[in-house]
Amino acid sequence: MIDFSSDVKTLPSAAMRQAMASAEVGDEQAFEDPTVNALCARVAALLGKEAALFAPSGCMCNQIAIASWCRPGEEVIADRSAHIAWFESGGPAANAGVMLNTLDGDRGRFDLAQLQAALRPRWRHCPLPTLLAVEQTCNLGGGAVWPLPQLQAVAAFAHSEGMHTHMDGARLLNAVIASGVAASDYAAPFDSVWLDLSKGLGAPIGAVLAGSREFIERAWGVKQRLGGAMRQAGILAAAGLYALDHNVERLRLDHQNARALALGLSQIGGLMIDPTTIETNLVFFDVDAQVLGFDAATFASRLAALGYKMGPFDARRVRAVTHLDISAENVQQALAAVAKVCAG
Ligand SMILES: *Cc1c(COP(=O)(O)O)cnc(C)c1O
Repeated sequence: MIDFSSDVKTLPSAAMRQAMASAEVGDEQAFEDPTVNALCARVAALLGKEAALFAPSGCMCNQIAIASWCRPGEEVIADRSAHIAWFESGGPAANAGVMLNTLDGDRGRFDLAQLQAALRPRWRHCPLPTLLAVEQTCNLGGGAVWPLPQLQAVAAFAHSEGMHTHMDGARLLNAVIASGVAASDYAAPFDSVWLDLSKGLGAPIGAVLAGSREFIERAWGVKQRLGGAMRQAGILAAAGLYALDHNVERLRLDHQNARALALGLSQIGGLMIDPTTIETNLVFFDVDAQVLGFDAATFASRLAALGYKMGPFDARRVRAVTHLDISAENVQQALAAVAKVCAG
């Protein structure tokens, strides 16, 4: 099965496993794991921040950040498509007691005017907005990249309103490779930012959350509370270091493969996609049931029967993701299979 359903499906390579097996380790939560310490220092430097912590998942990084910045009853402003709103099992409410005020951005990216319009009056009847959260790249926005000036504008406004700013950088390095903007430049307007090691970077587990030394100290308390403090986690951090050494530049190939996939899909009758919108490795397209006589779920199951997995998102939408276990040849093979499914 060639799996386009997510970039979390990458398997650790033999060389990555070798790095994991030979990692020097210690007690992570006592700061005695040299490999975790090295990973945190490396990511903090990459993101231009003072300090960082290692977490088992990106979800936990978002949850730690929200609970570190906000008190119960306060409000987080984010795009309506945000991972924190859709896919964290109500974590912002359950773990931090906050409300989400969601905006209708353009493929996950809202502008300054929308943010300004969303701000409620500072009045004791209203929840206090304390955190602005953005996603770079936007997952449900189809991997769209926020332009740096737009990020700077919304973050500067949030700061002027006394809010903190958080970047969900699950795929930040995809944005970096696509745009040529440095990770530290994207991260600079944000008080906390994290990146995922287990998506396109190909590590089996892990994410790193960065910010000021003071923020990371507070964040450690939440990490402990959520059960995210670990022991000999250097085995996992070694995979992350390996990924940063070997799997960043090659994200360019994933983006090329995504564009080729989108272009091919756009030429198949009954599928709808604008290939010019593909900036990174996420490809969302629509299945037109009026033309094809079946919906996205049926499309995906018929395609899976031919050996290619893509993810139906709702009745119309399908998500296909390129990653390091998908080659240019796999893309052409998948397009042939998709054409076969659509031809009935
Ligand atoms: C995957 C993802 C997360 C969660 O990361 P996990 O490591 O899977 O917990 C958060 N935000 C975005 C945008 C993601 O794509």
